[in-house]
Amino acid sequence: MVALRGGQDYPRSVGEFLSWFGTDADCRDYLAWLRWPDGFVCDECGHVDGWRLADGRWECAACSHRTSVTAGTIFDRTRTPLTVWFHACWSFATAKDGISALGLQRTLQIGSYQTAWAMLHRLRSVLIRPG
Ligand SMILES: [Zn+2]
Repeated sequence: MVALRGGQDYPRSVGEFLSWFGTDADCRDYLAWLRWPDGFVCDECGHVDGWRLADGRWECAACSHRTSVTAGTIFDRTRTPLTVWFHACWSFATAKDGISALGLQRTLQIGSYQTAWAMLHRLRSVLIRPG
């Protein structure tokens, strides 16, 4: 997962996007890499060593604090798979004229308009910078 480059570690195309983020584990790896580019850092005690647990969370080697790579992000405590979230981010970021909840629901083929609307709301709350 460290070999990413593309448009400087951001996928340049749909094909690249799909090959990078095929599974939730891929997405989690990417988030971990963004969050801890030099390796895990405990957000509780600042220790720089830890390991990944079977459920995908991380545990600090010093204080045993457990954290998720999605903690404090818009992906925190979501029941929607990360692959769907990443696809939503991609659609949101690449739609030239913006995207509606209905458009997102159709693109992602998710059953609930309410879910699409809530995702879009979260995306808009953080992605406010042009470009
Ligand atoms: Zn710690």
